[in-house]
Amino acid sequence: MISANTTPLRVAIIGAGMSGILAALKFREAGYTAVTVYEKADRLGGTWRDNVYPGLTCDVPSQHYCYSFELNPEWSRLFSPGSEILRYLDAVAHKHAITDHIRFGKTLCAAARQGEVWQLTFTDGTQAEADVVIAATGVLHHPILPDIPGRSDFAGPAFHTARWQTGVSLAGKRVGIVGTGSTAIQLVPAIVDEVAALTLFQRTPQWVLPLPNPVFTEAQKIHFRAHPETLQQAYQQWLDRIRTTLARAVIGDQEQLAKIAQACRDNLMQHVPDPDLRAKLTPDYQVACKRLIMSETFYAAIQRPHAAVETTPITRIEPRGIRLSDGTLRELDVLVYATGFDAHRFVRSIDIIGADGHRLEQTWATGLTTHRSLSVPGFPNFFMLIGPNSPIGNFSLIMVAEMQVAYLLQLLAPLRAGHCRAVAPRAEACAAFNADLRAAMKDTVWVSGCRSWYLDKSGQPILWPWTLERFQAEMAAPDFNEYTMTA
Ligand code: NAP
Repeated sequence: MISANTTPLRVAIIGAGMSGILAALKFREAGYTAVTVYEKADRLGGTWRDNVYPGLTCDVPSQHYCYSFELNPEWSRLFSPGSEILRYLDAVAHKHAITDHIRFGKTLCAAARQGEVWQLTFTDGTQAEADVVIAATGVLHHPILPDIPGRSDFAGPAFHTARWQTGVSLAGKRVGIVGTGSTAIQLVPAIVDEVAALTLFQRTPQWVLPLPNPVFTEAQKIHFRAHPETLQQAYQQWLDRIRTTLARAVIGDQEQLAKIAQACRDNLMQHVPDPDLRAKLTPDYQVACKRLIMSETFYAAIQRPHAAVETTPITRIEPRGIRLSDGTLRELDVLVYATGFDAHRFVRSIDIIGADGHRLEQTWATGLTTHRSLSVPGFPNFFMLIGPNSPIGNFSLIMVAEMQVAYLLQLLAPLRAGHCRAVAPRAEACAAFNADLRAAMKDTVWVSGCRSWYLDKSGQPILWPWTLERFQAEMAAPDFNEYTMTA
């Protein structure tokens, strides 16, 4: 044992989104005093700050998509709008005085392990030191614009959904949307009544599970306020429902998968009577191979007389609209790219340089290998929240991050007590974890034959291929044999 540590461990958290706020709150609660959150924007909120497109909601029920220690009786709906989630995150951060720890407008460009510290360099030229770095930089953070020729030629406003231009009115306009993921399926019903014409450019159809989104009445909210235990029950009930249905279906429970598939097929049959349109909207891959879409309003919206699904491939973008492979020009006033995110970049907009000068970029050149989604051999005292192979997909990422933070607090206890100065996963432990992951992926629906943001270039999903119970068990306490603790 080395001498007891008298100076507080300096913990740098990168990003003030859902998981960064959580980490700051929990580390402070555990008695860490030198906690700094570096946030590149001028306000907190992460994905809920960046995404403001019409129709944005979270498709995980709000009574479960929240911090387990800050249940909220005020949600307006079963699936609440993004703006409400942003207000909730703001309220939690203010209530717990987390905002005092956030340094806004600080874009980290490099983090280098130098001796026993992490040297942080920001784009404004300033530097800072930290003993521990926690990247809370999110998964769906880097928008992808489609590689369609002529993109810059379009004469009207054109933007990605994650860079929504609130100043552009869609009223009476001919609007084109490229993409048919969760985002587009939320956007279409939200704008269809406003626009003169809506064209949805679809490369691949989606399975859609119809889920109603009822409001919580004032009477219900009064009840939730008076009986907080009902919120606790709701949190657990939603978790149990997700855990035992969709979460099982995607990792090989064929019975559950068949039930969900039937519900999606029934939805299509019942709500899209026109056989030609139905054929266009029918996927040729398994339900839940791509992230399952929840919507009760999409099919009705896309069947409005002034809406259309365009399946002819796009050849190029021209000043007046989109040219299709059959020569037709679809004339547009506004073009929206609902083309998703590079979910495989994770923290790599930042240059992370490990103990021996190795860059994370190099280490990950052949695959996003982590130990338990949290750490990487050769990068001591560097951790990620919601890193590669976390249980993402349809779980509440807030719950996942809570488990990861609780694990990290235990893992860092020897460091904090001064028993060691650095902790990093052993290469063998990391290799064993990844071998297990790869073996388990074979049973999942994600590799059953579709293109999705889940898959890396080699076709490996960046998801958790086991049950949530297994994740809970693994996050309950670290096995210190898997780590090197350096004095
Ligand atoms: P996405 O699921 O990745 O969908 C992107 C869409 O763009 C796909 O339909 C894709 O077609 C299409 N596309 C991409 N490049 C194209 C090109 N060059 N030409 C034509 N089409 C192209 O993205 P997203 O809808 O933004 O959703 C991403 C994830 O964000 C979701 O899966 C979900 O996890 C999260 N999200 C969550 C919520 C929520 O409620 N919690 C809401 C929105 C988003 P292909 O299918 O053919 O590739």
